[in-house]
Amino acid sequence: MIKLNDDITKAMDAESLKLDIQRHLRFTLAKSKYSTTKWDKFRSVALTALDRLHDRWIDTQEHYYDVDAKRVYYISMEFLMGRLLDNMLVNLDILDEVKEALDELGLDYDEVKENEFDAGLGNGGLGRLAACFLDSMATMGIPGYGYGIRYDYGIFHQQIRNGYQIEKPDMWLQFGNPWDVVRPKVLYPVDFYGESVPYTDSDGQLRFKWVNTQSVNALAFDTPVPGYKNDIVNNLRLWKASSSKAIDFQSFSQGEYIDAVRDSQLQENISRVLYPNDKVFVGQELRLKQEYFLVSATLQDILRRFKKVHNDWRKLPDKVAIQCNDTHPNLAIPELMRVLMDYEGLDWETSWDITRKTINYTNHTVLPEALETWPVPLMRNLLPRHLQIIYEINKRFLNDVRDTFGHDVNKVRRMSIISEGEKPAVQMATLGIVGSNKVNGVARLHTELIKKTIFKDFYELYPDKFINMTNGITPRRWLKQCNPRLSELISEQIGDSWITDLNQLKKIDKLADSKAFRKKFTDVKHQNKKDLIAFIEAEYGISLEPDSIFDIQIKRIHEYKRQLLVALHTAMLYNRIKANPDAEFQPRTVLFSGKAAPGYTMAKLQIKLINSIAEKINNDPDTKGKLSCLFLENYTVSLAERLIPAADLSEQTSTAGMEASGTGNMKFALNGALTIGTLDGANIEIREEVGEDNIFIFGLTDEEVEQKRREGYNPRDYYDSIPELQQVLNQIRDGFFEPDEPELFHPIIRNLLDEGDYFMVLADFESYTKQQQEVEKLYKDQAKWIKKAIHNVARVGKFSSDRTILEYSKQIWDCEQISLPKDRTSQKNGNNKKRKVSKQKA
Ligand SMILES: *Cc1c(COP(=O)(O)O)cnc(C)c1O
Repeated sequence: MIKLNDDITKAMDAESLKLDIQRHLRFTLAKSKYSTTKWDKFRSVALTALDRLHDRWIDTQEHYYDVDAKRVYYISMEFLMGRLLDNMLVNLDILDEVKEALDELGLDYDEVKENEFDAGLGNGGLGRLAACFLDSMATMGIPGYGYGIRYDYGIFHQQIRNGYQIEKPDMWLQFGNPWDVVRPKVLYPVDFYGESVPYTDSDGQLRFKWVNTQSVNALAFDTPVPGYKNDIVNNLRLWKASSSKAIDFQSFSQGEYIDAVRDSQLQENISRVLYPNDKVFVGQELRLKQEYFLVSATLQDILRRFKKVHNDWRKLPDKVAIQCNDTHPNLAIPELMRVLMDYEGLDWETSWDITRKTINYTNHTVLPEALETWPVPLMRNLLPRHLQIIYEINKRFLNDVRDTFGHDVNKVRRMSIISEGEKPAVQMATLGIVGSNKVNGVARLHTELIKKTIFKDFYELYPDKFINMTNGITPRRWLKQCNPRLSELISEQIGDSWITDLNQLKKIDKLADSKAFRKKFTDVKHQNKKDLIAFIEAEYGISLEPDSIFDIQIKRIHEYKRQLLVALHTAMLYNRIKANPDAEFQPRTVLFSGKAAPGYTMAKLQIKLINSIAEKINNDPDTKGKLSCLFLENYTVSLAERLIPAADLSEQTSTAGMEASGTGNMKFALNGALTIGTLDGANIEIREEVGEDNIFIFGLTDEEVEQKRREGYNPRDYYDSIPELQQVLNQIRDGFFEPDEPELFHPIIRNLLDEGDYFMVLADFESYTKQQQEVEKLYKDQAKWIKKAIHNVARVGKFSSDRTILEYSKQIWDCEQISLPKDRTSQKNGNNKKRKVSKQKA
């Protein structure tokens, strides 16, 4: 028998945690010491954390009702959460106690946590931003709710076979999800297809009904989102599609029975899989279904919650702010209009006023291929009433445009929500601008660019609507959790208030001049590198040199991100070693990781090229101790957490003007890597914060890129005039890195030399390699390097997502920070940690 613990929610001490872990193993999971698996051990720790979370979760949600808080709804097709255990324990402030409890049970926390699957319900930066925002909303006391889809399969699992990317299904739910709670009663029907029919109501008003629809149910799964040490627990609600058809077994013959079951399976396909494309629009019907499924279920839920306490729809904008993460949820605009008019009986003007005050839209890219444009026939078929509303919004909007600007036909055409022509399509970004309160970009340059380029006409019409919200990252996951050594070193020096107030890091800036501190900082980086080396040794059987520069590029594989630049430079370094094997060489380890969209041929070929270059380098004895190169498979949040603390050099090489913000750049700088990057996205603001002496900037500016495009850019000029570049390109062209298939990389070479090198890789090559030489020079002077690394950590407090969230709260959402009443915090966060752990094992 084991002892039972009396007050679960108060008991934050190691002894109580130990008892609960044992209790869950036995009573919840029904496992004996013989049958307990590693997964069970992880689950029993998760269940122990959940006992503490659920109570605080209920109290927080009750409190939001008690004070009738204004709620913020963050709607996103992606939430790239990663693993949750560490985050839950850190934010509950019981990580050390759990480690102690596990220790008493003869278990190692670091081994236990490896058993959790990453929740990979996102592609990259956009989904990870949503995850960081959830953490910051809870920590800053914002009554925030995440709304998304509970995909059965998240971003695919990437394998590298013979240097090529292979996609495997992501089976993150195969043993169940320990963190979420299903709410069988929170179930909403979501309609598709059918038609919109007019009718006259009892007041003689013309109204519309959406009829003959096919309906699917959205079923809610909730995951608690704790704030850091403040007892607040917000909610992430993810919808799963479930069949709406009750199967009447008796009335079926054998064949009909099978068909009925199969049909219900088909309906559930809506939430089956995340689309694996980052920053490219794929106009498939299933994707539009997913978007409307998310929007419809979420709005039903939001409006139900509002209606519980309020009866005046005009108060909705005072109590609800909706943030659309990119255009994917922008159907919320016609959907809110539809509900207010067709169900609640409001008139157009009132509904429009409410809608425009409630909804906000975040733009994430200026890349034209990423902009969502849904063909009108597709939308008419799937969402006829919405299309009708969009046409009406557009008609009224274009009248306003004519009133303001006169009859400028071209302008009206450019600004229309429906692009007319051979293939009329709904412009989702335009819909977002017209139907929202605020439109924001995600870094200063990006916001300036949308005002000057893609949304220029709209900026002239609504100058106050466009604002900047520079992205951020949560310091809990991206420093405290992923880099405990650096976190402890910082807290030793300045206390731990930096965890929720990242600008406090400024206090370590002057310690850059202390030799003793530099030594400790160096030791931390060294230890982190050794941890990564051990991981890579175990996984890949490759041993790396800890004193080499750890030069890391991890992000989605995309031409605009220019992994190619880093790959070409690595190949060039290899040539230098071969040309001069006895010359002094600054040792360097180049690490890549990232997924390519399964249909993105060029990106996948680049993965193969990187692997071929790596193979050549790693198998040549001349490079030993000097140069290594490795492509790590299956980039995830968890892999990022391993790599970033070990980085010396952060590669942020996008073509200027094309990376809206980037957040990987922030994670690296916060963990003491120096950046080599272009003047793009948030790199610009990072330079401004850390100072230009503490960052390696290279390449064309966004304006120079534009100018070159206008004036005619000839990549061959660079090929002809830079011998080392020419050598590398010739090698790739001639099969030097892939002798068995010498023509394999011709599409890459053609793209660079014959098809205009759209991303200007060759134009920036020389500037990049020159800065890399500066990197090498500086790295040899370790004292100087470490000083700059410390300045980076000390000066990037701005990039906390806590700051970003407070800006959204003040400038967009108009909501207050809330703290729970004292009785809640004192009674239950008394954190009775004093109880002694008994040494006896149960
Ligand atoms: C932060 C993060 C990203 C975004 O990285 P960028 O370099 O800004 O593109 C993508 N994927 C994962 C797993 C991340 O953690």
